[in-house]
Amino acid sequence: MMNQSKHGIPIRTKRIKRWIFFFSLYFFCLFCAFSSELANPKSYFLKVWIEPESSEISVQGKLNIHLKDPLLEKFHFNLHGTFQINKLKINGLTAEYIHKKNNPQSVYPCTKQTTVRLPEKSKAKPVRMEIEYHGKLENIPEFGSYKDQKWALDDQINSRMIELANYSCWYPLFTFGNRFDINLELSLPISWKCVCSGEKTKRWKEGQRVFSCWSSVKDTDIVIVASPQLKLESYRVDDVNIHVYHTQLPESFIAKDIKQIQQTANLFTSLLGKTVLPGGTVKHVFSPKQKGQGGAGIARPGMIVTSEGLTLKSLKKDPDYSLFHGIAHEIAHFWWSFGAGQGDWINETFAEYFSSVAEQRIISEEIFQNNLNKYRSLTNSLPENAPPLSIVPFEGGRVNYIVRYYKGSLMLDCFRQQIGDSAFFKICRDFYQTFHEDLIGTPEFRAFWEMKLGKKKVILNKWLDSDGGVPITIGNRLMLL
Ligand SMILES: [Zn+2]
Repeated sequence: MMNQSKHGIPIRTKRIKRWIFFFSLYFFCLFCAFSSELANPKSYFLKVWIEPESSEISVQGKLNIHLKDPLLEKFHFNLHGTFQINKLKINGLTAEYIHKKNNPQSVYPCTKQTTVRLPEKSKAKPVRMEIEYHGKLENIPEFGSYKDQKWALDDQINSRMIELANYSCWYPLFTFGNRFDINLELSLPISWKCVCSGEKTKRWKEGQRVFSCWSSVKDTDIVIVASPQLKLESYRVDDVNIHVYHTQLPESFIAKDIKQIQQTANLFTSLLGKTVLPGGTVKHVFSPKQKGQGGAGIARPGMIVTSEGLTLKSLKKDPDYSLFHGIAHEIAHFWWSFGAGQGDWINETFAEYFSSVAEQRIISEEIFQNNLNKYRSLTNSLPENAPPLSIVPFEGGRVNYIVRYYKGSLMLDCFRQQIGDSAFFKICRDFYQTFHEDLIGTPEFRAFWEMKLGKKKVILNKWLDSDGGVPITIGNRLMLL
């Protein structure tokens, strides 16, 4: 007889689904794909006008930009490849700029780099950029639309729905992973409903249009999802609001989703302390796309965006379908998001391991052990020259993915076995509390955990600096030197 979890979900079915999620997560959690080391925005004020019927978007933006080098003469940002700039001023002066088409990247298939020369007389700091642009997104199919698809983009504007995030570079994108404040005013046809990054502060109607204002601090992306059919299910549990947006999901699935979000967020809060949620709200948005990035989708501060089409398809095959592992992974990113550049493995390692901890604590030990077995099996399948965690690049396909998510998770589990639950979770909490407002890399991770692990730091360096799979094993047990 097939085992049942606490939720009555056949465990074997859940396992299969979970491992499908894991590989699709590669696309969601990207940091720093574009590196603009010299200039970064501190705030965006965007007025956005969208005409879904004609797929057109026009944007008036004001950005405060921090220059790392005050003598800098030019800086660059990325914008969608087909957009046209009507106006670009720096500190009130018209600025010269040039475009260069970027080579398509896996999650940034159509972008151009805009290089702006700072006008001679505009040396006042900080730099304030005014920009106006408009256009239609290049028509690129959603992820998973057909076999051997080369380029994919979930961002879209059409008469059925809107989804916008950094992948299209619909707003001037400098370095993804950098944090900034957002003030967004969005105008849509009157029958449309929307959800955006941050907290909704205002909504009004004018003629045949509906306007809404959204604000967020220390965010990492500017996300818009809209559709005439979008519905909001709103719940308040303890101090946290849970908002689920969807168009046609069954009530029973929404109820299960809310319970999972609540249980997982409560667990992580008890283990790590509170995280910053814009407006004290967790938003789970089921974007009404047909396909798109799989699993639980993408995570941004306080916000998860999941494909409703894929969810409906999974529910059709299995009425007990659960997104638990994927949701827990994305919710864990509400805490684990301060690794930057090469240090992005820190985000993925902790989010992945904590999603398994959530399954262990909320569902069953069996599922947790099964996850560890999969982590071991995949990590041991790595080639001997797979890069160590300490230098594993941010991009690079399956091998680097396994190192960043699963080898890293096994490292954390090894620490936990060595020092016990209580000490392990205390160090995790201290690590989060110490660094969550910074951006850090491997050196900061190493120094902090070396100090905390004391005499056992030898295992840390073994894990961080070894090529290939699990450093030393006998059977399934991890052994020390
Ligand atoms: Zn992730």
